[in-house]
Amino acid sequence: MNNAFFTVPKPYNEPILSYMPGSPERQALKDELARQSAEVVTIPLIIGGKEVYTEVFADVRAPHDHGHVLARYCVATEKELRLAIDAALDAKAQWAAMPFEHRAAIFLKAADMLAGPLRAKINAATMLGQSKTVFQAEIDSACELCDFFRFNAYFASQIYGEQPLNSKGVWNRLEYRPLDGFVVAISPFNFTSIGGNLPSAPALMGNTVLWKPSSTAVLSNYYVMRLLMDAGLPAGVINFIPSRGREVSEHVLTHPMLAGFHFTGSTEVFSGVFTTVGNNIRNYHSYPRLVGETGGKDFIFAHSSADVEALSAAMVRGAFEYQGQKCSAASRAFIPASLWEAVRARTVAIMETLKVGDVCDFTTFMGAVIDEKSFDFIAGHIDMARESQDAELICGGYDSSKGYFIQPTLIRAYKPDFPTMVTELFGPVLTVYVYDDADFDATLELCDKATAYALTGAIFARDRQVIAHMERALADCAGNFYINDKPTGAVVGQQPFGGARASGTNDKAGSALNLYRWLSPRTIKESFVSPTDITYPYMCRE
Ligand code: NAD
Repeated sequence: MNNAFFTVPKPYNEPILSYMPGSPERQALKDELARQSAEVVTIPLIIGGKEVYTEVFADVRAPHDHGHVLARYCVATEKELRLAIDAALDAKAQWAAMPFEHRAAIFLKAADMLAGPLRAKINAATMLGQSKTVFQAEIDSACELCDFFRFNAYFASQIYGEQPLNSKGVWNRLEYRPLDGFVVAISPFNFTSIGGNLPSAPALMGNTVLWKPSSTAVLSNYYVMRLLMDAGLPAGVINFIPSRGREVSEHVLTHPMLAGFHFTGSTEVFSGVFTTVGNNIRNYHSYPRLVGETGGKDFIFAHSSADVEALSAAMVRGAFEYQGQKCSAASRAFIPASLWEAVRARTVAIMETLKVGDVCDFTTFMGAVIDEKSFDFIAGHIDMARESQDAELICGGYDSSKGYFIQPTLIRAYKPDFPTMVTELFGPVLTVYVYDDADFDATLELCDKATAYALTGAIFARDRQVIAHMERALADCAGNFYINDKPTGAVVGQQPFGGARASGTNDKAGSALNLYRWLSPRTIKESFVSPTDITYPYMCRE
């Protein structure tokens, strides 16, 4: 018995290392890239803390060199999915009863291990398996994941400290129980940090979890699972089950003890899960919490007072970093006719300098898109723009002979509803719609209404009246809104992330708001001197 209230260390954002030539981190990363490039890892499932090998295997390949197999992973079938549910339910009571400081310590320890000895390993796996450049891996799998672990522990301690008011003779307490059942986390390929955060945020709050990583991010996600185990995560708290999405939907999401679903990925998959849960709603022990951060068609909207150099830099970084495969990536831009020629010239000039290729070459700006399906989808839309009367393909192209490479692509659409203006492509394609300066307000309305999404958006203007007007006019079409900055690069603790409409439930990953979803509070009222009389004063005879 400790008889003390402990204070979780105040979190800070993990510093981004530079990887400059001659730096120790650069050498360590290069060595690790060489080591991982020369091996083929066998990845088991982890259920109840034990490695489980199945007979169904799938490959992890480097997107920028698709002939290169990095790992072979076991695929969970119905049998293993059921074992994982049992393991999570078995581990629940002990984990929920573990004092918070010990639960928190596991994730704080994981952050320090990741920031130190495991940084190169998890960054290298993210670079090779998900085709991220050094910088893109560093800000994701090292920095953002450390931030999630540290900030969540801090936010959780603040939540636990929130208590109701009391009245005379009464003490009210609020107890923050985990959900009653198990949680399922299904993660996307594009951020190793999201992979780590989706199971660990509910686990920190005392839940036990099944974690299904994306089939194209299994290698880095497996190392994150190992990191958590090495940091002391007890058996069964998070169960690592690479598997087919459909099977998870069928066998896990319909289980009566499903208590929560933590998802990041496409709108289509989340809508399907919502439907599955809705159709089964009478079978659950409690109403499952459904938290989903989904797709986007993120915009940059420039006013005629915008700074062209800052605008072009934001268009390039916002649209093409990590090959446009950030949910926040700029994929449509509204540019006033008065600025268009200058913006076009500058943007194309920068785009011509961007090197696309193998991410192990540290001079590249972009790697490959994640897989063949994605490549075909994006390439098909580039062809559509090339052939259409309603658009001009300004620059761009593709080649999948060695890796799934799409060149940074700029399209001008002559119609605001041209498919690449409204469809999420999830690739390095930016479509520009040039509007007449006199149509500013109508174009703002178009930006708001043209797509079902509402994730991120950026405005560029120097006129303060205009900035205030745009902020109001675009109030509902972005959960993360940027003024004179690119719409990507949200930092945990600084810009809580998420959007509404078809972009998700807007539960803001990386903030206390998200953690509330993994709690089921119990209110406890204690009367110190219990009343014994049932009459009220108004009942007295006059
Ligand atoms: P995806 O929807 O294809 O896959 C996400 C996860 O769902 C994967 O683990 C996948 O295997 C699984 N899945 C697929 N079909 C399923 C099914 N029927 N039932 C259950 N699970 C299923 O997404 P992705 O390609 O990995 O990621 C890209 C998408 O994620 C984009 O739409 C992007 O905008 C979105 N995203 C959103 C955010 C955000 O915060 N809003 C962040 C990152 C990515």
